[in-house]
Amino acid sequence: MNWRRMAGLDTLEEDYAFASSDATGYTSAKKIPDHWVPTTCGYCSVGCGIELGVKDGKAIASRPLATHPVNRGKLCPKGLSEHYIIHVENRAKYPLLRKNGKLQRVDWDEALGTMVEQFHATQSKYGPASLGVLSTGQLVTEEFYALGKLVQLGFGTSNYDGNTTLCMSSAVSGYKSSFGSDGPPGSYEDLEKADVVLLIGANIADNHPILCQYLNPRQTLIVADPRVSKTAMMADLHLPLKPRSDLALVNGIAHILIRHGMIDRDYIERHTTGFDELARFLESYAPDRVSEITGLSEELLYRTAFTYGRAKAGFIGWTMGVNHSTLGTVTVNALCNLALLTGNIGRAGAAPFSITGQCNAMGTREAGFASSMPGYRKFDSPEDRAELAALWGIDDARLPTKRGLAYPDIIEAAVGKKIRALWIIATNPLVSFPNQEVLRQALSNLDFLVVQDCYHPTPTTELAHLVLPAAVWGEKEGTYTNSERRVSKVNKAVAAPGEARSDFDIFLGVAEKLGCREELFPGWTTVGHAFEEWRGVSRYRLCDYSGISYQLLAEEGAAQWPYPEGGIPSKRLYEDGQFETPDGRAKLVCAEWQPFPEQPSRDYPLILNSGRTVEHWHTRTKTREVPILERLSPNAWLEMNPRDANRLGLRNHDRVDVVSQRGRVRQIELRLTEIVAPGQVFMPFHFSETNVNEVTQSAFDPISREPNYKQCAIRVEPAGARP
Ligand code: SF4
Repeated sequence: MNWRRMAGLDTLEEDYAFASSDATGYTSAKKIPDHWVPTTCGYCSVGCGIELGVKDGKAIASRPLATHPVNRGKLCPKGLSEHYIIHVENRAKYPLLRKNGKLQRVDWDEALGTMVEQFHATQSKYGPASLGVLSTGQLVTEEFYALGKLVQLGFGTSNYDGNTTLCMSSAVSGYKSSFGSDGPPGSYEDLEKADVVLLIGANIADNHPILCQYLNPRQTLIVADPRVSKTAMMADLHLPLKPRSDLALVNGIAHILIRHGMIDRDYIERHTTGFDELARFLESYAPDRVSEITGLSEELLYRTAFTYGRAKAGFIGWTMGVNHSTLGTVTVNALCNLALLTGNIGRAGAAPFSITGQCNAMGTREAGFASSMPGYRKFDSPEDRAELAALWGIDDARLPTKRGLAYPDIIEAAVGKKIRALWIIATNPLVSFPNQEVLRQALSNLDFLVVQDCYHPTPTTELAHLVLPAAVWGEKEGTYTNSERRVSKVNKAVAAPGEARSDFDIFLGVAEKLGCREELFPGWTTVGHAFEEWRGVSRYRLCDYSGISYQLLAEEGAAQWPYPEGGIPSKRLYEDGQFETPDGRAKLVCAEWQPFPEQPSRDYPLILNSGRTVEHWHTRTKTREVPILERLSPNAWLEMNPRDANRLGLRNHDRVDVVSQRGRVRQIELRLTEIVAPGQVFMPFHFSETNVNEVTQSAFDPISREPNYKQCAIRVEPAGARP
């Protein structure tokens, strides 16, 4: 307290002054901006429209963009407090280069010159593939498009992936093998119009809160989740299935539907292949066996199958509960099977719908080189490669014939010293990657690590040889695509601090140093130039942006692709029953259930599940800076059923350690709750201080390479029981 306050002279007048605003009536004068800037929320994939209030060059308030079609005047707690992430102490403001073991401030010229020099030296010595790039779902689409070109054509490496592989690559792989292409087929409108909604492994109340407003009393909500999550509490029918028995459940539902003739034979006949084989395969998923695998009664299985089978329009939504699995891709196939067998696709209210994670996970899928070439072009398609090469005026030999290493394989290659230099962009693997010990070994092996981030220090920037300071949401422009393929504009409201640059400007700067700027980005100075080229590259593709312009987005707020030039936007894909496969038919896939890889044992008797909480975002780099969110949820916790706690002699709020074969999470608060079943425990994954990924395993989906973050065998001990 200062002396004026102590003497009663300082009445905190400035803090307590109020004024009237058109939008809110009387409110704190500090909260009334000079102007509002329309933009799109930078956290999750729901894609809410938001307005950022600016006063004296600072972002001071956030409010819903009332006209935006997604959120209809609402925001979740993160959106409502999003302005707090901008003007914080630990923003990365200047390039930092490690000299004599310490990160020291340098100018951009030295930073980018050193980066290119080091990458070149590594690639000359060990080959082009010795450079890896790990990106994110947080950039704008224009940046993904530019980065993909820069990495593939500029640096000549295909070892480029994003943290999106940690959250939804199984959905991508599943869509590709079932429908011939990535691309969520439905819309949020379908969630609202469905008369039956099946949410499986999707706790939208915590993870995608604004989607809950699309649920309504006219429909039957079925939630399949081992926990009684907040979403499960809203359900008409909760299926508390055993961990990782989801694929058996879905196959069991399909079995009942076929056996009882509750399928759409006409749709199957006209638009799919593989029905006879699938029907034979599903014979082994009779209700008695499925009941044993899932722990659900046969009566509950029949009730679920009949409810979905009788739906006029059935919507299936899933997120990480399905994707985070060694069986993620095939579980997505089985969910697509359900929709195809019942004709629940391509019409109002009917869709198998992957709810994505980050604000622009979709953008990297559409425009980057991570899982396919820009415009969902396939690496192994000579036609696709020739078409893209022609659009870019290059020899198609410069385009890869197969994708490079996926995220976990880049880490594995660094452990084996095949990847020697790494560029990490807007992600924080030292919190988010499973089995941290392996990651630490990988990063310590690198000759050169560049970390590009908006914040410093983070656990990952602290290990970097070079830190590149990036602008954060609110400080740059571009577009995001949400889970329903809706493209929304992201706008700059305030200037970036210090010498931080937008990721787009950093990519152009790197290209300049590489000597390929004019070749790859001819005449580009703004993201608008990238968007115009991307429109042309996406033309005639499933993700056709050619009818979308910045002007249209400013006028209409947002637009869904495919939106061909001169045409209209599409609410849903596959309305004509034509899929992206060579024969135009969707594929019914036989997907065999297997037990999860790490079964509980005498030493590790509990099954650990991890997930999110509504207050925080991913590795908490942003949300720990938001006072209200941090106060609501300052620490991690471990949920345990009281029966397990009794057996272990533990009490509510005890401090415990969580131990697996790989590591230990220390000093976590125990919360006793019936939300988790006996034998299972749950903890949130946002907290670097008590990081669940110290104990998670290195097990990955063989197709999508997505980690099996869930179902780790652990034990719980009183904190400090052993070293
Ligand atoms: S639901 Fe997602 S997009 Fe909407 S405000 Fe919340 S975090 Fe942002």
